[in-house]
Amino acid sequence: MATIEPPDASRIRVDSLPGFGDDNSIDVNMLRLDRMHPFISGNKWFKLCYNIEDAIRSGKQSILSFGGAYSNHLIALAAAAYARGLSSIGLVRGEEAVHNSVLAQCQAYGMQLHYLSRAHYAAKEDAGFLAELEQHFPEALIVPEGGANEAGERGAAEIAGYIDRPFSHVALSVGTGTSFIGLRRALPDVQQLLGFAPMKGGAYLAGTIKAKLQGLPENNWQVYDRFHFGGFGKISAEVSTFMARFYEQYGVELDRVYTAKMMLGIRQLINEGAFPEGAQILCIHTGGLTGNDVT
Ligand SMILES: *Cc1c(COP(=O)(O)O)cnc(C)c1O
Repeated sequence: MATIEPPDASRIRVDSLPGFGDDNSIDVNMLRLDRMHPFISGNKWFKLCYNIEDAIRSGKQSILSFGGAYSNHLIALAAAAYARGLSSIGLVRGEEAVHNSVLAQCQAYGMQLHYLSRAHYAAKEDAGFLAELEQHFPEALIVPEGGANEAGERGAAEIAGYIDRPFSHVALSVGTGTSFIGLRRALPDVQQLLGFAPMKGGAYLAGTIKAKLQGLPENNWQVYDRFHFGGFGKISAEVSTFMARFYEQYGVELDRVYTAKMMLGIRQLINEGAFPEGAQILCIHTGGLTGNDVT
């Protein structure tokens, strides 16, 4: 089986994106978490690292988690577990047994795949179903979809340690909201955190996040749900063209599900005049590039 290097945090850096948007007074930058590893997407590694430690500490041999057939989380989990000498189990949404290059890569890292019907998948957080899974896979630590647990939030908080300038705004793509929650807890209160939901109906995420941030200020974050460009995983011509131009201009590949839509959103907000003059924006590139060339 292939060997794999663990993610290399020393490769994280901040790139400047001169000329992004119509307002030259606004300074746009990008935190390149994508540079850490080819498959273990930046934010996924942060969310997984303490889960992996928990598994090792509690003597588990394996980590079990959930995801769709194109899941950046599952592939990151397969690779990260493998790099730490653990096996992994992926419960994949949909019993139609899709097989694509993401899932093949998961298997190459030793992940055992099982397909769940959509009804079972929807029950993946029910106590009864989790108890059944524990009985069936006693050697495995069960981690929710997207690494959405306390260990995931704690790991994501460490992303703040790579933000080395007093940016006025930090932008992040939001799936489960775990990275957003961890990061909001760790950033200075004066920095605005902007979330970008890549799915239709993403407004519910603000509620999920608010419940997790009780007791903290409510005026320094918000989630935009109008930049989904057709819905989760839908890649319109506008999104593809934007990704190609962005690559030409800055030499940075964006992922088509999350960060491309976030950057389109940021550009639109700049052009709408939503940012104050002189704003300094840091956009977090959360990786996920394996999803760009699924076959
Ligand atoms: C999973 C993922 C996200 C969303 O992270 P959450 O912590 O679930 O909100 C954002 N960007 C990329 C590239 C991802 O793979």
